[in-house]
Amino acid sequence: MKIRINTMKKTLTIICLLLICQFLVRAQESSSWFSVKELRPQVWVIGDHGADNMYVIEGSDSALLVDTGLGAADLLACVKKITSKPLIVVNTHGHPDHSGANYQFEKVYMHPADFEAARSYNTPEARSGASRSMTGDAAPGEEEKFKGEIHNTKLMAVHEGTIFHLGGRNIRVMETPGHTPGSLCFLDVENKLFFSGDNNNGLVWLFLGNCLPLNKYLVTLQKQESRLYEFTTLLPGHGPEMSSQFVKDQVKCVQGILDGSLERKPYQSFAGNAMIATFGKASVAFNPDNL
Ligand SMILES: [Zn+2]
Repeated sequence: MKIRINTMKKTLTIICLLLICQFLVRAQESSSWFSVKELRPQVWVIGDHGADNMYVIEGSDSALLVDTGLGAADLLACVKKITSKPLIVVNTHGHPDHSGANYQFEKVYMHPADFEAARSYNTPEARSGASRSMTGDAAPGEEEKFKGEIHNTKLMAVHEGTIFHLGGRNIRVMETPGHTPGSLCFLDVENKLFFSGDNNNGLVWLFLGNCLPLNKYLVTLQKQESRLYEFTTLLPGHGPEMSSQFVKDQVKCVQGILDGSLERKPYQSFAGNAMIATFGKASVAFNPDNL
């Protein structure tokens, strides 16, 4: 009898150790998926396993999360480690690497023209597919990685000029259609920081199915250029921060494509083939049939 009890004890100990190991591995995987860096006082960038940037902006009353990334890990837990303020969540646009973790939040603000795209990507399959394409990694599916509460997320419409009052910090919405019909950027008015999603990346994709014609994107860039006095720094959805003067290169790049003065080269990616042109630091990949 004594031998049997000892064997049971040993077995239970081994099971407990295995469970603890599994828990630690999961915790480690989840926390190492994201990187967090403070860029300015009360402004943080969250790296999404190298695939995209999300930002947390904190005021004295509340905090704003700009974009939700791929949705491959527990973003809510990551944000809670950064700020304890009540959280407002916004999407710059509806692509799966920017709205992927919407399912972890009750309410997300975005432009209604991108509601349908964001909803269509809000499935475990879409999240898993986007994560694998973007990270080139054995990216986890929701069933393996994220164990938190899943919400039937309510999408809330915002438009040009909407202001989020965070307490000593006001974030104003700018509509920037082009990369998607409902693309938005967010201006930290007092600090002249411009959170620009996929509108102002070093390379902007304008060849996807729901991209607007290039001439519409030019109108957006020219609007931005006319308001350069409002912001000094671009904080994009991919890549490091840039001077706001980068917008000038983008305007010249798109103008050069439209008037035929810039050289065009073939461009290939996991999302499809296109043409690409570059001016200064700005490149645009575009569909020659959608100018
Ligand atoms: Zn995008």
